Amino acid sequence: MNLNTPLRHVTGIGYIQGRRLAELNLLTVSDLINHFPFRYEDFSEIVPINEAELNTKVTLKGEIWSIKNVYTKSRKVLTQAVFNDGSNSINLTWFNSSYLTKSILVGDKLQISGKLTKYGSKLSIIMPVWEKLNSHQLSAISHQPLHTGGLIPVYPETEGLSSKWLRTKLSQILPKVELFIEDPMPEEIKGKMLNLKEAYKKIHFPQSEDDVKKSHERLEFDEIFWIQLKTLIVKNLWKDKKPVEQFRIDNEQLTKFLTTLSFKLTDSQEKVLQEIFEDLKRGKPMNRLVQGEVGSGKTVVAAIAAYVAHLNGYTTQYMAPTEILAFQHYATFKKLLEPLGLNIGIYTGSRKFTKAQTHPPHPNPLLKGEGNLEIPSPSRKKVRMRGILENPDIIIGTHALLSDKLKHENLGLIIIDEQQRFGVEQRSFLRNKAKIPHFLTMTATPIPRTVALTLYGDLDLSIISELPKGRIPIKTHFVPGKKRDDAYKFIEQRVKEGEQVYLITPFIEISETMATVRAAKDEFETLKKIFPKLRLGLLHGQLKSKEKDDVLNSFKDGKLDILVSTSVVEVGVDVPNATIMVIEGAERFGLAQLHQLRGRVGRGTKQSYCFLFSTNEESSVVSRLKNLEKISDGLKLSEIDLRIRGSGEIFGLRQSGRFDLKIASFNDLELIEKTRAAAQRILENSPTLDIYPQLKVKLSAVDSVVPD
Ligand code: ADP
Ligand code: MG
Repeated sequence: MNLNTPLRHVTGIGYIQGRRLAELNLLTVSDLINHFPFRYEDFSEIVPINEAELNTKVTLKGEIWSIKNVYTKSRKVLTQAVFNDGSNSINLTWFNSSYLTKSILVGDKLQISGKLTKYGSKLSIIMPVWEKLNSHQLSAISHQPLHTGGLIPVYPETEGLSSKWLRTKLSQILPKVELFIEDPMPEEIKGKMLNLKEAYKKIHFPQSEDDVKKSHERLEFDEIFWIQLKTLIVKNLWKDKKPVEQFRIDNEQLTKFLTTLSFKLTDSQEKVLQEIFEDLKRGKPMNRLVQGEVGSGKTVVAAIAAYVAHLNGYTTQYMAPTEILAFQHYATFKKLLEPLGLNIGIYTGSRKFTKAQTHPPHPNPLLKGEGNLEIPSPSRKKVRMRGILENPDIIIGTHALLSDKLKHENLGLIIIDEQQRFGVEQRSFLRNKAKIPHFLTMTATPIPRTVALTLYGDLDLSIISELPKGRIPIKTHFVPGKKRDDAYKFIEQRVKEGEQVYLITPFIEISETMATVRAAKDEFETLKKIFPKLRLGLLHGQLKSKEKDDVLNSFKDGKLDILVSTSVVEVGVDVPNATIMVIEGAERFGLAQLHQLRGRVGRGTKQSYCFLFSTNEESSVVSRLKNLEKISDGLKLSEIDLRIRGSGEIFGLRQSGRFDLKIASFNDLELIEKTRAAAQRILENSPTLDIYPQLKVKLSAVDSVVPD
């Protein structure tokens, strides 16, 4: 047996247990020893019964005097035993455990733990944890009873795999594989921390609080360290790539462009642009992430960067997450940059461009005055060709832009809007390139500093921290059940005045499953009864894309009053006339996610509202949601999410598991800074890790949250 041995091949782990382990994502021996306790029970002190304190957890050592099964009138089985430790006797009771009379016999010496209570006049412990005191049951590691002595680890469990079972297996397996646990950490980094083998032993079988603390210190360090090392290596790789030429920043032309805008850039936009310019001038490929709230004006920043690329003789590709948004940006870029003589193209790879279609599938409100999008193409192929043949200076599109069929000549800048990382495609795209274009990624997802310093550590970060002046803050209210009718009346009133409403239905599962869609449909039917006079549309991820477009377009064109939608559906299009955002089941969303949903309104000149509905009115739920009434800063909200609910919450991406740490926490700024400094030190000493062969080997095996 070694660390890679599949758990189902380990003697003593049967088929069913193997399946249950797999449910916890524990497939190999290594997975099991990396399944850490999330807390410990303190059973360290064994007391005589006559000194034990009532209503506290106690650990006792003694002998079984009698044991039998008793059947109650309701046909339940109780196992009752008398236990004596020389100072006194107590009763032990287990429910539904009739098998115990076969494993615990009169005369057996036992160590037990549990809460000491009094039943009538008799001292008892209900459902005690127990183990026999013969040499086999002593932990091979701590030489203490496994389940009832010292600090007893409690593990994340699944049905049928108790902590007791996990502890037993670990106590058998860990001693057999510990010789394979190598510690790749150089002494200079490890310092006074435990070595890895000790850390694993002590986290599972601690003898003291200090063991717990020290093993945590080491294992938490490692978890974050590997992420840091990985992202910093990616960052360095990027900097070593051959870049396109150094760009010149032509301030005169830029100033001219800025005067064509109907607004003045905010200080934040200016600052971020300067950071981008510094990258572009450096002669190394830029890899920058611009983070800014919905509505903070990222598009114009992107347009300016694209203009700079153009002035330097390079083209730009702008990648939007959906086709609808691609068309929206296409319109914006045309408006901004065509007057300066730039040629803007669109490329979405859509199958919708079929015969004689002379307008895009999603006429955009922004385009109304401009007629159609000038895609007079009878076939999809020709749309593509057109984009290429006419040499656009900027091509707006979707993922289809990455296609090999599209020639990427003279490509100087790639802008990626509103995407999570797309590491794999990005890298394969880059592999074939002699020269690397600059990369600018934009997101409205607020990323706490600690996360930016780890998961996004390969990117340079710019933050647009303010909204353009004059935006009317959105009034947000948590609506308790008894005020719901008032809220509905208010909505009806607003609609009568010509405004529109988004209503987000809660998700049932984390991703949009059938259950969520069914719930959305039910909700839709209910709402139709509540608002019999209003025009309602339903949008969810399982509609065909034509159906989706139809619903969205009707809403945009004012033909629907209320758009009922699941949260995962792209409702990113601008509908300035929508002034109310209602979120059902708000308790199921992270604050930052709620904030992003709320950002769909408040785009026009009228006062906008966000109503948070929740059927759960526990005070902890309500006070968490009420943060949104007071706080309009997405980053602050994401920090609160991080504190209350952990990192998966931030990205609304819990299902991916990608952002979940096993033992460390993104709340631990000190740890994050310490590990980053350590990784930096390593790479300064040896950028390619050549003097740290063990780190190199380990790194290639690290299954970290960073995409590679
Ligand atoms: P986002 O950051 O969400 O992509 P957009 O770039 O779509 O935001 O900008 C939202 C709106 O704000 C657009 O209508 C844009 O023209 C406008 N805008 C951008 N910058 C400013 C500014 N400095 N002052 C006023 N309005 C601005
Ligand atoms: Mg945007």
